[in-house]
Formats: sequence, structure tokens, C-alpha cells
Amino acid sequence: MSDCIFCKIVSGDIPGDIVYQDEAVLAFRDLSPQAPVHFLVIPKKHISTINDFKSEDASLVGKLFLAAKIVAKQENIDESGYRCVMNCNDDGGQTVHHVHLHVMGKRQMTWPPG
Ligand code: AMP
Repeated sequence: MSDCIFCKIVSGDIPGDIVYQDEAVLAFRDLSPQAPVHFLVIPKKHISTINDFKSEDASLVGKLFLAAKIVAKQENIDESGYRCVMNCNDDGGQTVHHVHLHVMGKRQMTWPPG
């Protein structure tokens, strides 16, 4: 989508601090990190929210988590632990409408979330 900031990172039109990519997904560091390690994993194709996932996206959804696992190991947070969050729409706190998995680590997370 031409006005989507994450699509622009995928296309290279705006820079991203990319930590991983394959044919289906891209992972890059969050611009406003909420933990010492904070990266986002996105599908390369535009999907606005979790509500827009279709049954044919099942494998793609899995690939987001597999990429999270790979980068977590790269970042050395796989053993200490990390949190994966995917916000959906306003009440979920979603501000960028291109689905993204937040992966945060290297600090103790709290529960419940804010
Ligand atoms: P959410 O509020 O769940 O939609 O999360 C959007 C996330 O995208 C926020 O954590 C932002 O800091 C992050 N973000 C926005 N623009 C960029 C960008 N150009 N590069 C990296 N992260 C970004």
C-alpha cells in the first residue's frame, strides 16, 4: 500500500534497521524501543490488522513467530526470555495499520500490561 510506512520499509523507500528477512517476512528495530531489545516482525505483504488474516495466511502467521524466534536467538534473548505482542485496532493500541509482531526483551516484563 503506497501510504503505509511499513510497506515503505519493505520496498526500501524509507530506511529500517533490518535484523532479518526472508521471502515472506521482515524484522527491524522499533524506532521507539520499549525495552533494550525491541524489534518488529512484519509480513512483507500488506495486511492491516489481525482481523484481516485469511485462512490462506496461516503459514505466514507462523512465519512471523519463526522469524521472532530466529532474531531472539541472534539478539541473545532466547534463554532469558522475551515478550511477543500484536496489537489490534484502537483498544489494542495499534497505531500502524500493517500487522506487526512486537518482540521485546533484555528486561523483566510486568503483567498485566498497560
Ligand atoms: P503499534 O502501536 O502496535 O501499532 O506499534 C507501532 C510501532 O511501530 C511503534 O512501536 C513505533 O515505535 C514503531 N514505528 C513506527 N514507525 C517506525 C519506523 N519507521 N521504524 C521502526 N519502527 C517504527
